[in-house]
Amino acid sequence: MVQIKTPEQIAKMREAGLVVAAVHAATREAAVPGATTKDLDEVARKVLAEHGAKSNFLGYGGFPATICTSVNEVVVHGIPSDEVVLKDGDVISIDAGAIVDGWHGDAAFTAFVGSGHAPELIELSRVTEESMWAGIAAVKQGNRLVDVSRAIETYIRRQPKPGGGRYGIIEDYGGHGIGTEMHMDPHLLNYVDRRRGKGPKLVTGFCLAIEPMVSLGTPKTEVLSDDWTVITTDGTWSSHWEHSVALTEQGPLVLTAPDGGRAKLAEYGITAAPDPLA
Ligand code: MG
Repeated sequence: MVQIKTPEQIAKMREAGLVVAAVHAATREAAVPGATTKDLDEVARKVLAEHGAKSNFLGYGGFPATICTSVNEVVVHGIPSDEVVLKDGDVISIDAGAIVDGWHGDAAFTAFVGSGHAPELIELSRVTEESMWAGIAAVKQGNRLVDVSRAIETYIRRQPKPGGGRYGIIEDYGGHGIGTEMHMDPHLLNYVDRRRGKGPKLVTGFCLAIEPMVSLGTPKTEVLSDDWTVITTDGTWSSHWEHSVALTEQGPLVLTAPDGGRAKLAEYGITAAPDPLA
């Protein structure tokens, strides 16, 4: 059931991934105190239009916007709104995607609005982002899906949490296959659940969106009455990072990273695959 891509199809997904990267750059710059999350949605809409790409979020299951903007205790799927005005000290996770010629890209990042953030929030985002890279580094021939889950979980669990206690690895959401649709098989947990088995083998042409979500408290979430906004049940703040990755004959290519993941993968002793568009 896993969709395997040809090198030509991966090149198309790279095109979509670079559009997502452009949306990230523009929305990151626009996430300043005084901006509304609706402003960020408009920025994203314009970047997609400039690239002739479509949003895979708008209309997905009835989702009413181009991107997800999740502020503070919102984990994922926050709906951009005129009424959400960003202020100094906020933390926002922006999830954005693009479709180019039918091929999808999907990625997310956490940003700090203004300044004065508590060190534990900065560390939370660092741990979440780095756990994503640990997961990406596990995308290699011979590994199975569970090895990616284990790499993410192990990284998070080895990080001391400032002030003590454990990070909450969000359980209700995870990564996914990606290709001609945004969400495809297989579902990727951000922790190991032995009842689920090892999952499929990672082979050439396998594409995966890897997206850890981590809170300062509980792993549990609930959905607000708008049917989208996902919050932590204990109100603790969270972070969300995501990249779409392809496994090629020459190694992993991080489709949604401007450098294809080259710099970060080098820290893991891994050479990223050459960029098919370069
Ligand atoms: Mg995703």
